[in-house]
Amino acid sequence: MSAADEIEALFDGEGSKDYLGEAVSMAQHMLQAGALARAENAADELVAAALLHDVGHFRGIRTGRDLMEGSENRHGHSGADWLARWFGPAVCDPVRLHVAAKRYLCAVDPPYVAALSPASVYTLSVQGGPMTTAEVAAFESTPYAYDAVQVRRWDDRAKDPELGPIAFETFRPLLESLVRPA
Ligand code: FE
Repeated sequence: MSAADEIEALFDGEGSKDYLGEAVSMAQHMLQAGALARAENAADELVAAALLHDVGHFRGIRTGRDLMEGSENRHGHSGADWLARWFGPAVCDPVRLHVAAKRYLCAVDPPYVAALSPASVYTLSVQGGPMTTAEVAAFESTPYAYDAVQVRRWDDRAKDPELGPIAFETFRPLLESLVRPA
């Protein structure tokens, strides 16, 4: 199965179920995030990162370690590790860092905290709360940290129940163009 086929199967399968505590399915949440990135003319790699940022939530790709540590903390890492089979760091690292980016924004941007959804406020506590000053400095010097912050901002907005369904197919050419040669 091609990368795009395998990813589409996840979106159509597990992804079509409810996104716990949110008003849209997980697949539509991710598709909305990708569409927001695309609407802002983000680079293709960053559009792909936005589209794929939550694949780590899918049971099919979770590891035993994820279950031990709690999927809320690990879903960025497990998603990025899974995606690294096909995509380079410009796609995978913003996915890996998007949970950290939330903790970062909560530390540096007080209005950001006030605008979080109730489910997102709850998961913040599971994710370790806002970053400390030292963690903020370390995050800012990490490659792709700013890309991860952008993914995070699209992530937070991609929960619109009024928006009509977005088709996975509209992202297929972009994903296929980013897959690394085997
Ligand atoms: Fe998300």
